[in-house]
Amino acid sequence: MIFSEAFSGKKWVLRNCPFCGAKQEDEEILISQDDAGMYTVYCLTCQAAGPERINEEEATKAWNKRKR
Ligand SMILES: [Zn+2]
Repeated sequence: MIFSEAFSGKKWVLRNCPFCGAKQEDEEILISQDDAGMYTVYCLTCQAAGPERINEEEATKAWNKRKR
């Protein structure tokens, strides 16, 4: 799994994990890209994953809208 460089630049602001409350600033939530080139937001703490999207911006939006 490849972790996006965009994360390290804090380009996309991710909401705290709706499941466990993990925070992006603690590097517990990452944007990852799978082998198919799709992006998803992934929580390292509880393994929650957001919907797959075609780019980081859309993956971020999808994650931020996600309900518990
Ligand atoms: Zn979580």
